[in-house]
This record gives sequence, structure tokens and C-alpha cells, in this order.
Amino acid sequence: MNRALRTLTTTAVAALAATTLVACGGSEGEASGDGLLAQIEAGSVTLGTKYDQPGLGLREADGTMSGLDVEVLTYVVNSIADENGWEHPEITWRETPSAQRETLIQNGEVAAIGATYTINESRSEAVSFGGPYLLTHQGLLVRSDANDIAGLEDLDGRILCSVTGSTPAQKVKDALPGVQLQEYDTYSSCVEALRNGNVDALTTDATILGGYAAQSPGDFEVVELEKDGEPFTNENYGIGVQKDDTAAVDAINKALEAMYSDGSFQNFVDENLEGGVGVNEATPGDLSFLES
Ligand code: GLU
Repeated sequence: MNRALRTLTTTAVAALAATTLVACGGSEGEASGDGLLAQIEAGSVTLGTKYDQPGLGLREADGTMSGLDVEVLTYVVNSIADENGWEHPEITWRETPSAQRETLIQNGEVAAIGATYTINESRSEAVSFGGPYLLTHQGLLVRSDANDIAGLEDLDGRILCSVTGSTPAQKVKDALPGVQLQEYDTYSSCVEALRNGNVDALTTDATILGGYAAQSPGDFEVVELEKDGEPFTNENYGIGVQKDDTAAVDAINKALEAMYSDGSFQNFVDENLEGGVGVNEATPGDLSFLES
């Protein structure tokens, strides 16, 4: 059972903690082709995450990396190294925008991706997933001074933005044909369009929206989306690896269990997503939601 750690709040007021992790190397993602475990054993691993999502995956101006996904991935590779008696590997970070994630894994340009990456059926045909490590739901970000959008029913005829290749963009197209959807490459460009009044709302995971709301206190509000009294979507975050690399999947899930049981997950949430907007625990290795 997933346990709600925090309820979704409509206003995120907390400032993001400025914990940072060093981003090593500047390579333009040389494809090593090796799987995750081989790269960790060899002492150097290329990992994919987002670079523009505060609290989740963010490349700071000085090149350091911060965010929950960055911390989860770092924990997982170090924990796998410890388990096998290997040194902690050097990590090279690579930006993995929503629409490119499966391709970057398939090409071997990254060994694993943790990038607000929802596990779903179609993606599971191209890559395999460890996790889930977090459950969130699709929401809306609206300007605080234009808060006449309180739910799905208010979106008809509105201009909504989301990101190409994301599950929320697909859901909106399927479920809300009356909405004018504008697709951008990144969420940060959607946020600027919202700020400038070029779109009425931004839709994606509540975790991501909470990060942007916290970055600009007072400017935006997060709106919860429900359908028939249930969350509009379930977004189960996984760590993507090469298709059928079951050894990597098993090792990731073992590390994620340790991350929950030693309190690290809660620390990562507290340090990076203060207020825990949209954050719920998940059960690593349990993919039963794919059948429903
Ligand atoms: N979790 C959703 C997805 O994987 C939305 C966030 C994102 O685009 O990274 O598509």
C-alpha cells in the first residue's frame, strides 16, 4: 500500500534547500554501451536526469547537481557498489529530456535514468525499470492572480502547456479534446510561458509543479486534479535501464528498499521538496499497477 506522506497543498511556500551534489566530468555523453552494473564496477557511470526541475533534477549555475532524483540515483549506485565491495563510482550526469529518455538508454548513452520517469506499458517495451520509488499525480500550475482554474472542468477552451513525450501531455490529449495543448521541450519553458500569460496553465506531475511554485513564492499555485473522486493519474517513478537487464533491476530495487528503511528517502524529500508537495511512497519491485 502506498502511504501518503503529505497531502497536496495548493500553495507551496517553502524555499528549496540548497543541497548540492558535485557533477563530475563534462563529457558529452560518450556511449560506453556497458550496462549499469558493469559501469559501476569499472568505477565510472553515466546517469541521466533533468537539468531544469528544481527539487528533482537541477543543474546549478556552478555546474553542481541538486534534487531528489539526483540523490536517489547517487544513493542507488553507491549502495550497489557497497553491496558488491566496489569503490563508489565517479558519476557523469547527462541531461535527459522527457522525449529522449528511452532512446538515450537504448543507445547506451546513459546507464540509467532517474528523471521524474513514470513507469508505463509502452515505455516498458523499450526499457526496463527499477522501482517505483515515488508515487505522484498529475496536477496543474496556475498563476496566483488568475486562479479561476480549479479542476478539469475549467480547462475547456483554455491554453494548456506540457512537455513533448510526457505522460501528462498524452493524458490531456486523450481525455480533454477541448483543451488547446501547447507542447514544449522542457517544463522550464512552459513555466516562462505561464508567467508571461502566453498559456493559462501548465500540467504535469504535482512534485514538479511544487518545485516551480517553491522557486517563485507567491507567483503560482498547484491545483490537484481529480476524476470521479480519484487522482486523475498515477505517476509511479522508476529508474530506467537497458531492456531486460534483470540483474540491474534487482540491484536497484534492493538499494531502493535500503533507501526507504534507513530513512534516506524521507531525508531526500525533506531536503529537496520541502512541504512534500505531491509526494507519496511507493513499493520498489511492485509493478502490479501496470496491469490495472
Ligand atoms: N512523470 C511524467 C513522465 O514521465 C511527467 C514528467 C516528465 O515529463 O518527466 O512523462
